[in-house]
Amino acid sequence: MNNNKDNQKQFFIDTIAKFCDKCGSAYSIGDLEIIQENPISSIIHFSCSNCKASHIATFLKPMGMSSRVPVNTDLEIDEIKKFAKMNETSTDEILDLYLYLKDNNKVKV
Ligand SMILES: [Zn+2]
Repeated sequence: MNNNKDNQKQFFIDTIAKFCDKCGSAYSIGDLEIIQENPISSIIHFSCSNCKASHIATFLKPMGMSSRVPVNTDLEIDEIKKFAKMNETSTDEILDLYLYLKDNNKVKV
């Protein structure tokens, strides 16, 4: 199953972001952590191994759409995981997640 996860991460790199926004380093599968995965959407944490810039990306499978927001540090990854575990994530809940992060000043918009 690990190999499957790696393929998935490679897919997200190809689909969402190949390079770090900040320093332009190429992402590798080791820089990604899949926070949540369900039939409708995925939430992926990107962390640049070079400059440590972090992003949270959501990928909506039915639309093939993705969006990505920067986060201040990678400390929040546990918090986001906790949040994601509270419910099966729906599109509404992804929006809630954005609002939650925004309200806590964890996302620079
Ligand atoms: Zn970087």
